[in-house]
Amino acid sequence: MIVCNACFHAVPPGLTSCVACGADVEPEPEETAELEPRWVIVRTFSAEYEARFVAGRLIANGVPACVLSQVDSTRSFTVGALAVAKVFVPEAHLEEAERVLAEPGLEADDEDDTDASQ
Ligand SMILES: [Zn+2]
Repeated sequence: MIVCNACFHAVPPGLTSCVACGADVEPEPEETAELEPRWVIVRTFSAEYEARFVAGRLIANGVPACVLSQVDSTRSFTVGALAVAKVFVPEAHLEEAERVLAEPGLEADDEDDTDASQ
């Protein structure tokens, strides 16, 4: 919250002059919000390796991705109903990520159009 230097009235963010006395106010400095992209969940998996596979595919297609796995650390198992792995991408890359994930598996038939004579 910005406070007017002249009358100490609170000034809503985005304004450059005080709503109470009209004095110029310094816009609030942009803090860490600009530095970190907003990460959104693009997929959720019950097993971490699936999430890592998808994240790897996104990264290979130029989409920054990260995996956050929520594993109950008080127990020793990492696979099962209690293990939830989430794949995050920056909000700006969400559409791109969905497009990559909507494509069928790339590794299955990538030699179709070369020499299929045998
Ligand atoms: Zn003021």
